Amino acid sequence: MNRRSFITTASTAVAATFISSTSQAAIGLTQDALPYAPEALEPHIDAVTMGIHHGKHHAAYVKNLGDALKAASLTQTDAVALVSDLSTVPEAQRTLIRNNGGGHVNHTWFWKWMAPTGSGPKGPEGKLGEAIQSTFTSIDDFKKLFGEAGTKRFGSGWAWLIVKPDGKLAVTSTPNQDNPLMKGIVADTDLGTPILGLDVWEHAYYLKYQNKRPDYIAAWWNVVNWAEVAKGYEAAKA
Ligand code: MN
Repeated sequence: MNRRSFITTASTAVAATFISSTSQAAIGLTQDALPYAPEALEPHIDAVTMGIHHGKHHAAYVKNLGDALKAASLTQTDAVALVSDLSTVPEAQRTLIRNNGGGHVNHTWFWKWMAPTGSGPKGPEGKLGEAIQSTFTSIDDFKKLFGEAGTKRFGSGWAWLIVKPDGKLAVTSTPNQDNPLMKGIVADTDLGTPILGLDVWEHAYYLKYQNKRPDYIAAWWNVVNWAEVAKGYEAAKA
């Protein structure tokens, strides 16, 4: 290893240490195991849905992303960086990479934004709790707004809580597998760092809730990983 490549390697390693497990952190191109057992979110999210959602849907996004990157001869190994700026991706593979890259990134976050039933804080605490109250009047008003973003999203998509570039919180929504980091795809006013997101694709809830998306959303609040959301908030504000 020559001196230059040593310096490059060393600074990459240092940079990696400073990236915590937050929303903006790099995400590789392989799928991690679920951070809990598929039945851990019962009775709110059922084990069969979790198994299929992670093992089939998310796995397919990862496989299709890998195939598209290969077809595009791209060597980017950070899926977050990839979907944040799709302008450098060859046009022939751009839609595939947008959909499957978004699918991989969004689901990797989503599993961490949930925690086993009864395992953590029941709502936002500390600085995050204060910011939610001052932005949305109350925690309940925030939940109502976020729930509406999910309910009103026509077809498939996501509801988000983001930290905007000015540090303020906002609730947004995207179609399909788009997310709030996607410059040039999402409206500039809706860009920000996602610190919580909810998958409202039917595959996320249909087995247990069928057409009752609002019931799924109401139940989902019981398994939100508020400790992880707070961590993401503090990192985004830093
Ligand atoms: Mn999904």
